[in-house]
Amino acid sequence: MSKGNIGVTTENIFPIIKKFLYSDHEIFLRELVSNAVDASQKLKTLSSIGEFKGELGEMKVSIHVDEKKKTLTISDNGIGMTAEEIEKYINQIAFSGAEEFLDKYKDDANAIIGHFGLGFYSSFMVAKKVEIHTLSHKEGATAVKWSCDGSPEYNLEEEAKDAIGTDIILYIDDENKQFLEKAEITKLLNKYCRFLPVEVVFGKKTEWKDGKDVELDEDNVVNDTNPLWTRTPNELKDEDYNKFYKDLYPMSEDPIFNIHLNVDYPFNLTGILYFPKIKNNVEVQKNKIQLYSNQVFITDSVENIVPEFLTLLHGVIDSPDIPLNVSRSYLQADGNVKKISNHITKKVADRLAEIFKADRKGFEEKWDSLRLFINYGMLTEEKFYDKAQKFSLFKNSDGKYFTMDEYNDIVKDNQTDKDGQVVYLYTTDVEEQHSFIQGAVDKGYDVLVMDGQLDSHFINHMEQKLDKTRFVRVDGDVVEKLIPKESTLESSLSTGDKDDLTSVFAAQVPNGDKMNFIVTFEAMGPNANPAVITQQEFMRRMKEMSAMQGGGGMNFYGEMPDSYQIAVNENHPLVERILADKTEKVGEQVDSLRGKIESLNGKRQELEKAKEGKKDEEIPQAEKDELADVDKKISDLNTKKTEILSGFSTDNKLVSQLIDLALLSNNMLKGEALTKFVKRSIDLI
Ligand code: ADP
Repeated sequence: MSKGNIGVTTENIFPIIKKFLYSDHEIFLRELVSNAVDASQKLKTLSSIGEFKGELGEMKVSIHVDEKKKTLTISDNGIGMTAEEIEKYINQIAFSGAEEFLDKYKDDANAIIGHFGLGFYSSFMVAKKVEIHTLSHKEGATAVKWSCDGSPEYNLEEEAKDAIGTDIILYIDDENKQFLEKAEITKLLNKYCRFLPVEVVFGKKTEWKDGKDVELDEDNVVNDTNPLWTRTPNELKDEDYNKFYKDLYPMSEDPIFNIHLNVDYPFNLTGILYFPKIKNNVEVQKNKIQLYSNQVFITDSVENIVPEFLTLLHGVIDSPDIPLNVSRSYLQADGNVKKISNHITKKVADRLAEIFKADRKGFEEKWDSLRLFINYGMLTEEKFYDKAQKFSLFKNSDGKYFTMDEYNDIVKDNQTDKDGQVVYLYTTDVEEQHSFIQGAVDKGYDVLVMDGQLDSHFINHMEQKLDKTRFVRVDGDVVEKLIPKESTLESSLSTGDKDDLTSVFAAQVPNGDKMNFIVTFEAMGPNANPAVITQQEFMRRMKEMSAMQGGGGMNFYGEMPDSYQIAVNENHPLVERILADKTEKVGEQVDSLRGKIESLNGKRQELEKAKEGKKDEEIPQAEKDELADVDKKISDLNTKKTEILSGFSTDNKLVSQLIDLALLSNNMLKGEALTKFVKRSIDLI
């Protein structure tokens, strides 16, 4: 009938298609099957509005592999094309500015295909020759055969074809033989065509019989034409959603809950997002959100389409407004995509707010699994934070849940410090920090449980967001000082006694390379524990952050030993007993040493004074020697005093016992030290 050149202004488009689009060869099947689906749907529409009066058979797209002829055929019974339409839609591809564009995007198959509407031509990525056999639905149309062997020349001629519709026959080339394998085609149909709206048939169903696959009479339909997200939410039950989830991600546990998206303005978007139960991080990576455009699978790398925190969710998103041929560069530049992303965030937040309002109890029950997503969203998306304030929950050590506002109301009276800052106490481990939690609760404070993966970040974030509020871990100090108020108990110890007891306790703490203890004395009242080990909030956070970043600038903190305070309660009767025992056993000796040290210190001061205002060479050697001598004496006496006090504390089992008890309640007493403690306890009993 006719011969001609395909309207490509570039010398020859096919080598380019073949050469540069190698990475995504398989998408040709998606392109051809979705063209066939489109053609079927168009005919359905024409029939429904009365423009097509013929018999509308059962609409379906069939895929057929002929291994002998090395062909792959995609057939539909859709609208078909007339010779003029082939001329218009297939031959004259709009290639304005083609060269420039090709040059720019030569490594990005999808961008090229998307730009040129090259859907059909992607078949040349895998075929050395392509034929179109088509009969238009229009009355009196003649069937035509178009063929092209990959040069810019095509052949168009009339032929005999009875049924309305189109067959596309690909003569698969040698480099792409895998597309003649049944298993490969099945895999691709499963990936791209699983939810197409028109039945896609690939051969016949088979049954395992007598040790082999036997073909049945029934068509092997590969897709679900009516996937769940296209249906109306109120006719669906939880079971339906869970079943669909299992279809998408076989072997996964039931999700926590789902959000059915249904947006028609300002753009079209449907989908179902699931909040999954996460057992480990591998699963998060494995199951991804799938992106569809009119039920055609596009990609499961949705990083630029949905906000980062939602990439942790599972499910499907379908939007014809997301360009079908998605590529990274294309997406980032697309303003629509940004809008869609914001909108999804908003919808998810609104839906969570609704669920919270409708069933707070149910929401609370799910909170522990949900909060990872919600806190992550709050950390990374400002807009989400704003909305999430209404439903983001705090859980306290009693297992009660509060919204952020509720919590502030509850603690602000009792937990405001002397500077007017509200102090939120928290625990990162209910078991290990039990005695501290108990102490705080006994004092009438509330303690939050912050033991999630993101909580240390979340706490930092909240401190910036919340007005006049800071977080202090419940073992950050002795309970009296966790929330510093004006009044503290008076200290009753003399400086000398405090000094001695410091040496007595310091001699028994397990100082080492990894741990470092500072002994302090606090007036905590006779009912508090005799000794408490705490870790300073600031230092601990620095170390945690440094550990999380794995070195870098914060390494300085990482390499420091963990530093703890052991606060000895000077009001405790047992501590008073140690003091009395010290006075009795070594009091005289120590006091006499202290007296000597004090008088030497007086001497030292005189000598220092004499030196004042003089240059080094003006000071007589005798004076210098004397000062050095005094210093040495003081140091020797101090050493002696410390020795006596250590000797005393070694003999006094109570000191070690109190330290070990404090270590024990922090879960820090292990190994040999624990064995010793047990033995000593028995001795003491
Ligand atoms: P796009 O689908 O992006 O428009 P294609 O190159 O895939 O680009 O197809 C060009 C046109 O050819 C389609 O818009 C359609 O009009 C026509 N066409 C392609 N395949 C078929 C088919 N199977 N049946 C009827 N028309 C088709």
